[in-house]
Amino acid sequence: QAKLNGRNQFHLFDAEQDQQLRTHHNQRARIRQALQQDELRLYFQPKVNMRQGRIIGMEALLRWQHPEQGIVGPLQFLPLIEHTDLIIDVGDWVLHQAMAQLRAWTALHAEWVISVNIAARHFQCKDFVERLRKILAAYPDVAPERLEIEILESAAIQDIQHVREVMLACQKIGVSFALDDFGTGYSSLSYLKRLPADTLKIDQSFVRDMLEDKDDLAVISAIIGLADAFNRAVIAEGVETAEHGVALLRLGCDLVQGYGIARPMPATQIEAWAKNYVAPTVWDHGKDLEWE
Ligand code: C2E
Ligand code: MG
Ligand code: MG
Ligand code: MG
Repeated sequence: QAKLNGRNQFHLFDAEQDQQLRTHHNQRARIRQALQQDELRLYFQPKVNMRQGRIIGMEALLRWQHPEQGIVGPLQFLPLIEHTDLIIDVGDWVLHQAMAQLRAWTALHAEWVISVNIAARHFQCKDFVERLRKILAAYPDVAPERLEIEILESAAIQDIQHVREVMLACQKIGVSFALDDFGTGYSSLSYLKRLPADTLKIDQSFVRDMLEDKDDLAVISAIIGLADAFNRAVIAEGVETAEHGVALLRLGCDLVQGYGIARPMPATQIEAWAKNYVAPTVWDHGKDLEWE
């Protein structure tokens, strides 16, 4: 087959591909090293209930504290490993960190739930439930109900029967589930019926333009209706302004997360933020909505 291509062409292609493979291999090795040398960090982004003006929990978001490049975001390195077993080691590390943080918050904030993003390959590995069980067992004073797992809607519908079984097994232990980036994964009503996810997390792409774009507003309204009909909770991500919050409250979505509430930050900054947090007064309308 090689000889069918012009010799030079083949060699050019071959060399390029070889170089790319080498680069990816090196990058993956560097990410493994980051894990081993403790360069990974969890940032936390608050989630609030607008109607109650209350903090309900935090999403854990991965960062790489790179010695030369500074803070590196997950989209810059997770795609390189999400199809390798390294994503499983990184995911287990994230789960451990989240549990340790929950333990640290027990005295002051036992009601906060931490949400952790789990990659499809990790979630679908044969022994996921067993691994999770072991991790939870290492933190006997942390109730599993304080942990939520976010998986992408698009990943959940890949192997729905298996995903359903894993979700049910985890829920039996006490861990809850959210379908992340909901609305972008093309799941059907019958999929949703079979997926026992506790929460639908409206993708931020719909929230971003919801005040200007009627179609995005319609998608959000439909997801809220869907959550209601299937008796699931619903949360909106990417809430950048108080006005987004008002619009969501009117549609019946009380739970929000986004730069408009707070940016992701290290756990050390969360305490001061929480102490000073005051919900915008425009959200007070949420308290009267039933009588409107
Ligand atoms: P995601 O789970 O959908 O998380 C939301 C992303 O949107 C985060 O980006 C967050 O910082 C950002 N964000 C939050 N509020 C706003 C807002 O108001 N406006 C805008 N424009 N963006 C907002 P981040 O931290 O870069 O994470 C990107 C994605 O990487 C996550 O999307 C998630 O899919 C993945 N990820 C993050 N941490 C982990 C992890 O520990 N494990 C795995 N497997 N994936 C992770
Ligand atoms: Mg998420
Ligand atoms: Mg999302
Ligand atoms: Mg996303």
